[in-house]
Amino acid sequence: MAKISINLKEGKLNKQEDLIIGIDLGTTNSLVAYVKDGDSEAYAIKDKNGTNTLVPSIIHFNEEGKILVGEAAKKQLEYAPARTIYSVKRLMGKSFNDLSKITDLLAYRIIDEDDDSLVKIEIDGKYHSPISLSAEILKYLKLRIEDNLQQEVQKAVITVPAYFNDAQRQATRDAGKLAGLDVLRIVNEPTAAALAYGIGLAQEDERTVVVYDLGGGTFDISILDIKQGIFEVIATNGDTFLGGDDFDRTIIDYWIEKYALDIHEISTNKTKAQSLRLAAEKAKKTLSSQSHFEIKLDGINLELTIETYNSLIKSIVDKTIACCGQAMKDAGLTPKDIDEVIMVGGSTRVPLVRQEVKRYFDKELNLSLNPDEVVALGAAVQASVLAGKQKGVLLLDITPLSLGIETVGGLMDVIISRNSKIPTSLARQYTTSIDGQKNLKISVYQGERDLVQYNRKLGEFILSNIPPMPAGIPKIEVQFLLDADGILVVKAKELRSGKEQEIVIQSQYGISEEEMGKMLLDSIKNAQSDMTIKALLEARNEANNIIVNTERFLKQNNHWLGTENIEQISQFLQALKDVTQKDDKDAINQAITEINDFTAPLAHQAMDKAMAESLGGKGIDEID
Ligand code: ADP
Ligand code: MG
Repeated sequence: MAKISINLKEGKLNKQEDLIIGIDLGTTNSLVAYVKDGDSEAYAIKDKNGTNTLVPSIIHFNEEGKILVGEAAKKQLEYAPARTIYSVKRLMGKSFNDLSKITDLLAYRIIDEDDDSLVKIEIDGKYHSPISLSAEILKYLKLRIEDNLQQEVQKAVITVPAYFNDAQRQATRDAGKLAGLDVLRIVNEPTAAALAYGIGLAQEDERTVVVYDLGGGTFDISILDIKQGIFEVIATNGDTFLGGDDFDRTIIDYWIEKYALDIHEISTNKTKAQSLRLAAEKAKKTLSSQSHFEIKLDGINLELTIETYNSLIKSIVDKTIACCGQAMKDAGLTPKDIDEVIMVGGSTRVPLVRQEVKRYFDKELNLSLNPDEVVALGAAVQASVLAGKQKGVLLLDITPLSLGIETVGGLMDVIISRNSKIPTSLARQYTTSIDGQKNLKISVYQGERDLVQYNRKLGEFILSNIPPMPAGIPKIEVQFLLDADGILVVKAKELRSGKEQEIVIQSQYGISEEEMGKMLLDSIKNAQSDMTIKALLEARNEANNIIVNTERFLKQNNHWLGTENIEQISQFLQALKDVTQKDDKDAINQAITEINDFTAPLAHQAMDKAMAESLGGKGIDEID
């Protein structure tokens, strides 16, 4: 296995082992942890005052363009909601279409492109990606641990939910790179939780483990099958909109009713609403260890007993138990098959939650670690395993550099990311960019840079005889199969016609550890500028797609659009074409938003017309 360490300060390779940190990049809170040299226990890093390990996953852009992260950003939530970004994890690797259900719930502006490109968030005419926003949180955590330990760190293990797909994992990796981190592994949160409890560290450990994770706004249940150091997720379930925030809300609603609080005042006065929300959260936390809570707010004594509280949240807790039942059913297991139940997430401090989970699984719970730290602690354990510091733990073989293909504009599209376990096989779908395109060149590259020109070319081949179809219609699946010896087979297949082609490449030969290390180092050093160019190229690609589609739309619909619409669209088109020639991604995005805003309602009309025509033609006697 290749092990490379880099000294970023001096810009050279380290031969001695250096520290690898563990990061939990959460929806509500994030934190960083590490395992001390010569120790087997993991520690989460606290703030400067030595009080909090948790960093609220919130980013604020102030009017001078300064960026605040964590507690300082959280304070701005009520004053400057449009400039304060929370829940960014929900946006990772997602398009606007994926998110249409949740955008109303967010106080900041997500650009509506009504398509499948990745989302952007606009603040003051600047467009931010979820990746660059997450990178701000990661940078903050990196600084925190560097300050605390007085040492530079570059290597990290970052956790993600077990259900994260390839795009979401890749986005998390990119965020790490942008924050100046070499992300050695992306680890599933439930796997990290098990590792934090030392489960699965010994080769002979064979367990079936349930991880119950109730955070601020999400609930995840995962069932893991652990065998010979391999953690397999056999079932997941949950609710992406269920968590501690719901407990707070039921308390607020109860108080409003019981004390006949002025709803109008609460809904219009942000400060009042905020202090009520804080009081409710305080009540919730108090009732995790006491049986009664009382607070004076604006001269009114608000009270809550544990009995009332339990009755308020019972239905929420029941929902989580129903999810557990579903996951167990999917895994084909019953509670007696489960060896361990691990409690994760701040909301599992709630006594009723513990009681009901314990009752359902009929088992003592793993509660000894802080539930909101356990994922980060486990990431740190995984990190120390990677550093070779945990005796007796075997590492699986991994691929040292990412493998991918070139896409439009010279961008590297990673198919197998670096540090993936091998053997492995992954596939991704692509399409053509020109009408009637018959051939597609597949160029295979190895490396970490966003632009293929800086990576290493492994080979190329041409998928020919694609039947002529309009751009975007062919479905071309590119599959990478990497065997345990590092031999890569690349296959391309046009799924509609079945045309197929493949090549065999020996990916790791002819490249030394030194070279590999240099490639990694370059990728981190250039992450910022690569990302900027990548964003520009992506904006241009998107603009070009829109230009082609809009021109086609104009041609097909000019009989009913009317001269005014046609003129207006042509103007927007020209503006988009002009700006696409320039190097300003924000301006391109702006032009895209403008043309989309104008054409979206027309496209809907066109669809309705097409529908009406097809029904009008032959629908009637078929229904009879
Ligand atoms: P996430 O995984 O979503 O980032 P966390 O695991 O940090 O979130 O959980 C945050 C939630 O835990 C918040 O809703 C917070 O109010 C809740 N929480 C924290 N401490 C307690 C406590 N003592 N009792 C009840 N709820 C708590
Ligand atoms: Mg969490």
